[in-house]
Amino acid sequence: MKFELIAFDIDGTLTRSKSPLEDNPLIDTDMSDWLNKLMVKYKVAIISGASYKQFQSQILAHLTKDREKLKNLYLLPTNGTALCVYGNGTWQCPPVNALTDSEKKEIYAAFDKMFAEVGFTIPDNVYGEIIEDRGSQITFSAFGQNAPIEIKEAWDKDHSRREQMVLVLKKYLPDFAAHIGGATSIDVTRRGIDKAYGLRELLKHLNLPREKLLYVGDELYTDGNDAPALKVAGECRAVKGPEETKKVIMELLV
Ligand SMILES: [Mg+2]
Repeated sequence: MKFELIAFDIDGTLTRSKSPLEDNPLIDTDMSDWLNKLMVKYKVAIISGASYKQFQSQILAHLTKDREKLKNLYLLPTNGTALCVYGNGTWQCPPVNALTDSEKKEIYAAFDKMFAEVGFTIPDNVYGEIIEDRGSQITFSAFGQNAPIEIKEAWDKDHSRREQMVLVLKKYLPDFAAHIGGATSIDVTRRGIDKAYGLRELLKHLNLPREKLLYVGDELYTDGNDAPALKVAGECRAVKGPEETKKVIMELLV
């Protein structure tokens, strides 16, 4: 078998992208069937900037409860700052490598300076926090996480706004990493804490060479939040949504 470990992004890869009607869209029944089948033949990993709580509601609740299969599933919430493994009938997530208060302060201050520099003003109508503290990651969303998808999609279709924002952020935050994610988001973490970090930790944990890892994601372009996987995975497959992801899974099961 060419690959032993298949890793997936969530938003836009296993699920549709977030929208107002579906804040955190669930995997559909087809997708859960395919993942359940995949876990019989391969080790399966899911890595995302999302929290473990989101993993539970979007993914875990809709997968098999078969303990033997779940032993082949690895969850890496907040980009792998926790590695959740299944054992003794329960999920164990070793402690998250959270940002300190002073690191958070530094990041918030950099956002303020960046907003002034690029001329971003917080919109009158927002849908949730513009800057969200996720423990090991600070996430910016131009209109808040729960903004209607039409508003989100119209804002930065070609990523040019956020590319400019990321450039400015990097100047003020040399010790941190900033990546474009979703339709309006930028994720900031400690440098070295991105999907590459999480995937490397997982390969170490499983004692697998990188050639055995196939990564599937929808944002593998430069500065996209899947791009770090290119440095670690033996091979990466870019998809445009869950339907294309299912096709990749089908190919793997042939
Ligand atoms: Mg994605």
